[in-house]
Amino acid sequence: MSAADPTCRYAEFHARSLADPAAFWAEQADLIDWERPFDQVVDTTHPPFARWFVGGRTNLCHNAVDRHAATHPDRRALIWVSTEVDQRREWTFAALQREVEATAAILRRHGVGPGDRVLIYCPMVPEAVFAMLACARIGAIHSVVFGGFASHSLAGRIEDCTPKLVVSCDAGSRGGKVQGYQPLLEEALRLSAHKVDRVLWIDRGLVPIERQPGRDLDYAAEREAVAQERVPCEWLESNEVSYTLYTSGTTGKPKGVQRDVGGYAVALAASIRHIFDGRPGETFFSTSDIGWVVGHSYIVYGPLIAGMATLMVEGLPIRPDPGIWWRLVQEYQVTVMFSAPTAVRVLRKADPAYLSQSDLSSLRSLFLAGEPLDEPTARWIRDALGKPVVDNYWQTETGWPILTLARGVAPMNERLGSPGVPMYGYNAVLVDPETGATLEGPNQKGVLALDYPLPPGCLQTVWRDDARYVKTYWSSIPGRQLYSTFDVATRDSEGYTFILGRSDDVINVAGHRLGTREIEECIAGLASVAEVAVVGVADELKGQVAVAFVVPKQADLSEDELARQVGQQVNEQLGAVARPARVHAVAALPKTRSGKLLRRAMQALCEGRELGDLSTLEDATTLQALAQKLRPV
Ligand code: AMP
Repeated sequence: MSAADPTCRYAEFHARSLADPAAFWAEQADLIDWERPFDQVVDTTHPPFARWFVGGRTNLCHNAVDRHAATHPDRRALIWVSTEVDQRREWTFAALQREVEATAAILRRHGVGPGDRVLIYCPMVPEAVFAMLACARIGAIHSVVFGGFASHSLAGRIEDCTPKLVVSCDAGSRGGKVQGYQPLLEEALRLSAHKVDRVLWIDRGLVPIERQPGRDLDYAAEREAVAQERVPCEWLESNEVSYTLYTSGTTGKPKGVQRDVGGYAVALAASIRHIFDGRPGETFFSTSDIGWVVGHSYIVYGPLIAGMATLMVEGLPIRPDPGIWWRLVQEYQVTVMFSAPTAVRVLRKADPAYLSQSDLSSLRSLFLAGEPLDEPTARWIRDALGKPVVDNYWQTETGWPILTLARGVAPMNERLGSPGVPMYGYNAVLVDPETGATLEGPNQKGVLALDYPLPPGCLQTVWRDDARYVKTYWSSIPGRQLYSTFDVATRDSEGYTFILGRSDDVINVAGHRLGTREIEECIAGLASVAEVAVVGVADELKGQVAVAFVVPKQADLSEDELARQVGQQVNEQLGAVARPARVHAVAALPKTRSGKLLRRAMQALCEGRELGDLSTLEDATTLQALAQKLRPV
């Protein structure tokens, strides 16, 4: 960033955060309340692990709810709109505190205490937010599982986090179609070796719940029983665990990303100020789901910690019509909005005139994240809104943006196609994946890596698996201990970074991160399947879709029948998000001489690109047969 550039002020801010992290983050730590001040800003004695605000005691729920309930009890805190069941509800900070205390009392009554896990498997209902905050309040560790995941995915997460109690719901609804949760949860509980003591059911009256005496609890009845109970916040050392959230990687087994308390609270408070430029009393609208990291950071904790109201919506962007989000912006005077490129592409396909039907004068900026923001989409939404559209790049692991523009610090110019520059606290480098050398010059292609220590808010480790944390994230760059994002990127002379794609077997479907291995393992479980390869293929609307190449056991099985079986299996075990868009029956898969699948060649073939280096290919006829199959007829 040159001195003539307005981003220069930001460059100084960023440089200060790296030169003296202790002073920088101690300043940011003033944005939250501490019951006991910390003794040390960061403990770096055990790299690659870092401990932030050591010895300090605080609580996420106190910072998100109680402190605002004390000073601004009547200020709006949570707004819930469901276009699926046509309901709206609102809670002030004082009312939210009452609900959270009640849920905390229910949890305590059933034996949940500090350090116990609570798994939350819910659609976008406000009680799920109460449950998250209630866990934070009493020091229990929540693990929210996206409602779109099916029994097999859910079972794996139950086994890994071993919850004492599960919070679930009779049903969700998507596009008017009611989806019962109980069959999926019961199947998951049956599959899991870990057994839970209690299931707390939120009954919306959409689908009957069959209760198991001794195990099942009714939220409304429990709520009645604890109506008057007060539950104080449990003060926690900053490095206690606040939550785990599972994310896909290169192996079939999802990783439990583990987050702390104090570092996360400080990182979110700082990001709302410096990046999102949100102010107390305003309304933040994130269109994500509580099952994803964006939902954790920017539906629940971030806005509330900053004293903002958060608008939570159950429903699709095009129902009842594509004007719904913009009407909500007008009605609730939203100042900061956060969505994903896929949603914008969906709105762009619908009638764009809807955008101009609402008064969007309250809106300051639209933030987009989760997948690459293509230039046509960025241009369209920016011109249609007449507001800054800010791309931001991060991961479940980091909890808040790695690359974006810190407009709360200094005015910064955007560069279409780039999410922006490294955020304060992140020492982001591009490295040669073969040699580990840092690529200093502009426009060189390398893996985006982060130097030690990661800033506050990032994952502490992988839940119960420090070795996996070190091996997965900190051991892939030759000769150096750097955190790998597994994203390939380039950087221009002013530090603007351009994300080119993943270097591993992770794909991104409509902003949802999926491991191709996980989908392959699921399909391979079918009796009719001999072998399978899944690749991510570019898609105009969803960014990428999964495409499966399947070798059936019997040659006479029709492709339609195979596709039906594959679709059903993935739907039932992993959930519809992971279902392949296309299934091709093939006689053999292209492999290297050492037996590795040539996924990149298969992907290139599907996208009509050059196939690249095929010197390691064992049998060229496999690829030719695939090419023949994909050729338009
Ligand atoms: P998740 O952990 O599900 O949020 O997925 C993180 C991954 O999504 C990153 O490693 C990137 O591959 C991709 N991603 C997220 N945000 C962006 C963005 N703004 N531009 C490009 N890719 C992104």
